[in-house]
Amino acid sequence: MKIALPRLGNIEVMNETIITDMGHELIEIPPNTKRTLDLGVRYAPEYCCLPLKIVLGNFLEALELGAEGLIMAGGWGPCRFGYYAQVQRDILLDLGYDFKMIIIEIPRGNWNMLWENLNILRNGRSWSYFINQFRLGWQKILLMEKLENMVLSVRPREKVRGVSSRILKESMLKIKKAKNREMLKQIETETIHKFDENTDFQKQNLIRIALVGEFYVSLEPFTNHHLEEKLGYMGIEVVRKNTIEAWIGPIMRLKIFKDSFKEEQEIEEAAYPYLAHSVGGEGQTTVGNVVLAHKEGLDGAIQVIPFTCMPEIVAETILKKVSEDLDFPTLTLIYDEQTGEEGLNTRVEAFVDLLKKRRKGVRMSV
Ligand code: SF4
Repeated sequence: MKIALPRLGNIEVMNETIITDMGHELIEIPPNTKRTLDLGVRYAPEYCCLPLKIVLGNFLEALELGAEGLIMAGGWGPCRFGYYAQVQRDILLDLGYDFKMIIIEIPRGNWNMLWENLNILRNGRSWSYFINQFRLGWQKILLMEKLENMVLSVRPREKVRGVSSRILKESMLKIKKAKNREMLKQIETETIHKFDENTDFQKQNLIRIALVGEFYVSLEPFTNHHLEEKLGYMGIEVVRKNTIEAWIGPIMRLKIFKDSFKEEQEIEEAAYPYLAHSVGGEGQTTVGNVVLAHKEGLDGAIQVIPFTCMPEIVAETILKKVSEDLDFPTLTLIYDEQTGEEGLNTRVEAFVDLLKKRRKGVRMSV
C-alpha cells in the first residue's frame, strides 16, 4: 500500500522503518508550506483548530502524490483532537478521494479497528519483526528529540551562525536511513562531537526561556514561525517543554513509557494549586510546566496557542495568576492562518528585552 504520515517537525525520521521496511511504499509529504496551510484552510471548517487544518493540507498533498493509506493518531477527549482523524477522513471522502484512514489509538472497548489497522501496517510480516521495527522507530524518535533539545543550547552559542541547524539536519537524514541501534549510537556520538566543536563554551549564563503550550504548534516549526530558531539567533537558550515522548505515552495510556508517566505526574503536581484537573490537550501541562520553569530558575516562558484552542485559552487565563504569584514573566502567542511575521517578531523582541532588563535588576511588571 502507498502510505503517508503527516509532518511534525522531524518525525519523518521513523517513516522508512515503519513503512518502507514493512513492504509498503512510503509517500513522502513535502515540508509544510503556505500551500499546505492554504489547502487545509480551504477545505476545513473555519472553527477547526490550526493543527487540524495543516494536517488536512498534508493529507491532500499526500493524496495528490497517490497515497492510498493515511496514518493518523487518535485520542479521547475532552479536546477536539479525539475527532481529528474522523473529521479529516470525512472531509477527504466528501472531496471524492479513495483511501484508507489508518487511525492508531488505544480503543475503549472494541479493539477490532486497532487490530485491523495494525494488520494493515504489519503487511503479512511476523509480529516479532513488526514490533522490532516499531521499537527501532521509537529509538529514532528519542534520538531525534535528544539532538533537537541539544541544539537549543548550542544555537545561541554557535561559532558560525546557522551551523548547528545544518549539523542537526544532516543528522536527521542519517537517522532516517539507520537500520539498527548501533548505527543510531554512532550518529549520536558524531553529532554531539560536532556540536561541541562548534560551540563557544565561553557564552554562559544566557537568558533561558521555556517553550510551553499546545503540542503541535510548539513542535512544528512552520506553524510556530520557527520560534526556536528565532530565539536561538537572538542569543536565547530555549527549553522545550513538550516532547513526543511525553505526549505519546499518556495519550496511548501505555504504561511501558514509565518515564513519561513520572514526568506527567510531576507536571500535574506543579499545576495542582492553580488547575487541579485536566482540561484537555496540554492545558494543565502548560500551567505545570510554567510553575516548573520558575522552579528551575528560567527567566520566563512563552506559551504558544493555536487560535480557538480551548485548553490553552484556559491555561492562558490561569497563567496570569501564576505569573503574578511567582513574579515570573510569560508571553502568549496565538497562531492562526492570518498570523503575520512582523507583529510576532515585535512581541518576541519586546519580551526578550523585558527579560534582559530584569537580569540587570530593573524591576518591571510581568
Ligand atoms: S489541544 Fe487545542 S489545538 Fe490541539 S486539538 Fe485540542 S483544541 Fe485543537
